[in-house]
Amino acid sequence: MGTLTGRTALVTGGSRGIGRGIAERLGRDGARVAVHYGSNEAAAKETVTAIEAAGGSAFALGQELGVPGDAQALWAAFDRHADGVDILVNNAGIGTARAFGEIDEDEYERLFAVNAKAPFFLARLGLERMRDGGRIVNISSGVSKAAVLPDLIAYAMTKGALDVFTRNLSKIVGSRGITVNSVAPGIVDTDVNADWLRASEEAWAGAAAMSALGRVGDPADIADVVAFLASADGRWVTGQWVDATGGSLA
Ligand code: NDP
Repeated sequence: MGTLTGRTALVTGGSRGIGRGIAERLGRDGARVAVHYGSNEAAAKETVTAIEAAGGSAFALGQELGVPGDAQALWAAFDRHADGVDILVNNAGIGTARAFGEIDEDEYERLFAVNAKAPFFLARLGLERMRDGGRIVNISSGVSKAAVLPDLIAYAMTKGALDVFTRNLSKIVGSRGITVNSVAPGIVDTDVNADWLRASEEAWAGAAAMSALGRVGDPADIADVVAFLASADGRWVTGQWVDATGGSLA
């Protein structure tokens, strides 16, 4: 019996990257996991299969985020599979390859729609379904705390908004025993970074050197932190920004 047996979790963007790592870890801990994806259904099905192969239970849910009515549609689809939720991980997010001088209004609005607005409404509507003692974990970023990669300014602003949301929401839902935290990764080896991180040995070494531990992060490094916050052991931690950057900001 796992620490999350009997719990149901929704992990947005659970099909790939950090979200997949989180979905697999929560599945191993015994939770039934809704593995959300945007467009890559095959990746979500692979993640579901991996969770089941490890003895867990999961199902895939597709819904584009960052469009009107996204949260409502995602929860309506969730309701067809499950009765209530215990853990919501707002992980799905997008980055930007364009610097301050290049970003246009459309991209700015899209970044905020996916990274800040969607988690807000997913949590608001999710709370109607969440059992007391539940957990909300928002995946932020080290760049919301320190200007280590200033060209990511608009992306960093979306994560800053998410962090403010985390703090305030923790006070709103605390009386129900629900905790709300932000987990902030540093550079993690996922598809979103593949183009530049895997472009040269120098790029990889530079990214590794940012961490005090001298290596690039792995999705499991983040998933293990989320699993702690999602577990009963995390009950007294709420409203926090949890550094999961491998000491990149130390
Ligand atoms: P990936 O690009 O590897 O995966 C993104 C996931 O989110 C996929 O499952 C994707 O689904 C889903 N997704 C993305 N956009 C949308 C959308 N508009 N609608 C629905 N689903 C969407 O990202 P990472 O795993 O690298 O990042 C996960 C989170 O971690 C993000 O919030 C990111 O900002 C944050 N983060 C990542 C860092 C890193 O170095 N990787 C560092 C700091 C923070 P599909 O494939 O179907 O589109």
